[in-house]
Amino acid sequence: MIPANGVEAYVGLGSNLGQPMQQVLSAAKELAALEAVEQIALSPLYGSKPVGPQDQPDYINAVMRIKTRLSPLDLLGECQAIENAHGRLRLMRWGARTLDLDVLLYGDSRIELSDLVVPHPQLPNRAFVLYPLADVAPRDLSVPGLGSLAELLAACPYTGLQRINP
Ligand code: ATP
Ligand code: CA
Ligand code: CA
Repeated sequence: MIPANGVEAYVGLGSNLGQPMQQVLSAAKELAALEAVEQIALSPLYGSKPVGPQDQPDYINAVMRIKTRLSPLDLLGECQAIENAHGRLRLMRWGARTLDLDVLLYGDSRIELSDLVVPHPQLPNRAFVLYPLADVAPRDLSVPGLGSLAELLAACPYTGLQRINP
């Protein structure tokens, strides 16, 4: 059951094609404009080096903290609809893309469905997720099954990241 006032969740935004900053900022507006989503905070934008294939442009990343009455799968569906509206093509794993929206956390839920794993499995390994997450999350956030955000940050160096706006 989703409480009437919603669940706090975090969505990671990324882009490295077609004016990535505009892609991320407009996707953030579209997400926040959804009926069942209330934006609590949007992190600063960060520049980051690609994971996977290196012969692609650098990324812009951010994390949005929301309150939502959508179920986890419906939130994923809305994220994918926004990706598609931004002309995302799925050509290659971890290849260049106009927009990538990942459900990072959904309350204190642990979800392991074929289409949705939460917390996002790569979260502990990615500075471009952890640092913007820390910008918007409560100081004592704990990541279900993985420990405190502070511990995850301590184990993940701030490497290859560049904070773009304050
Ligand atoms: P990564 O997941 O390593 O960041 P990616 O974002 O490039 O890689 P995609 O091609 O965007 O991967 O997504 C592949 C599939 O991952 C999606 O079809 C979706 O069903 C699934 N998926 C599983 N868990 C999540 C999640 N927490 N958020 C978004 N997609 C997820
Ligand atoms: Ca991703
Ligand atoms: Ca994704």
